[in-house]
Amino acid sequence: MALNAFGSDEQKEPLQAAWREVVQARRVVVKIGSNLLTGGGEGLRPDWIAARAREIVRLQAAGRRVVVVTSGAVAAGRPLLKLNRPLASLQEKQAAAAAGQGVLMRHYEEAFETLGVHVAQALLTRGDVEDRQRYLNARDTLKTLLELGLVPIVNENDTVMTEQLKFGDNDTLSANVADLVDADLLILLSDIDGLYDSNPRLNPDARFIPLVERVTPEIEAMAGGVGSLVGKGGMTTKIKAARMAARSGCRMVLTSGFREDPISEVFAGQPVGTLFLGMENPLPARKRWIVNARLGRGEILLDAGASTALLQGRSLLAKGITGVTGEFERGAVVYCLAPDGQQLAKGIVNYNSGDLACIAGRHSRQFEGILGYLGTEEVIHRDNLVLTRELRTLPTGTQE
Ligand code: GLU
Repeated sequence: MALNAFGSDEQKEPLQAAWREVVQARRVVVKIGSNLLTGGGEGLRPDWIAARAREIVRLQAAGRRVVVVTSGAVAAGRPLLKLNRPLASLQEKQAAAAAGQGVLMRHYEEAFETLGVHVAQALLTRGDVEDRQRYLNARDTLKTLLELGLVPIVNENDTVMTEQLKFGDNDTLSANVADLVDADLLILLSDIDGLYDSNPRLNPDARFIPLVERVTPEIEAMAGGVGSLVGKGGMTTKIKAARMAARSGCRMVLTSGFREDPISEVFAGQPVGTLFLGMENPLPARKRWIVNARLGRGEILLDAGASTALLQGRSLLAKGITGVTGEFERGAVVYCLAPDGQQLAKGIVNYNSGDLACIAGRHSRQFEGILGYLGTEEVIHRDNLVLTRELRTLPTGTQE
């Protein structure tokens, strides 16, 4: 069963059990939306930020580590531009973010410093997590900050973002951050108290959903129906964040930031908001990165034997390659296509496209003679390969 509604005792028990595990979380990402920071008015609310800082410092004192993903740079910067009208272009939004980010940080700094805790700013774009080296750098820096007891305050680097390189909303950013730091809990503080099966502001009979065991197309459809309800991303991006968090084995709680102590309540052990469960057996971090990585410009075409081998969990060898398209570097992330032209797997390739075209169809014994150097036997090692299709979906006759 993918969703659960309050009702029979039978339905309450999994919910209570799931919440007992939420309380165990050690590494937590808290996402704070603009509406909460501004309370709907102009400028930020220092008292509200101070209250959240107190809650977070209490979690830290209990041995937990917390990363904050915050919006509010644009909201804080908008009045500073003195335009007296809504922001009209992406450039104006970026200018507002640049002006407001410092103000936003000052509020967090003041709130945490009073409690004897230091904060650290981290600004990220999608490009930073799609590029392997930058991903590793961001991950190591955030983990180091956590080990040292600081509270990283993360936002999208709005000033440099472009259409292709943006997260676009902080729900998505927060799920990426949860993935980066191996968080076991992501808390989305929002201006809605959880997931409903239809828009509760339009439909008085909308049913509240306290537990989502798996994000199914049915759940996605519910979110679609309430897409314009909240914040920048709406419910759709919250569900997307839940799906991504689940892939990292991370639970997600969507709850209202307008509650008295919204963060502490999550740790009080009683259901609050909607709880989305994480996958029991998440992919290892390296494979999760491959799932999200930017693609190199090209593809590798496989024969039937190699397609089956990959789906059985083996590495890709040159002898099963029938062709190479496009141009990519060694270390690029590329798709492997089955003989029917459909995508089969995605992985980090050990040869550039030129060399790969030369060794396609050959045995590794021949590599040195062809290339002039002794490369690795595997074109893509199974540890660097993520399947995007299942064995049973190969057309008949393809499977050996
Ligand atoms: N990065 C934006 C800001 O700080 C907010 C994006 C969002 O709320 O999703 O203003």
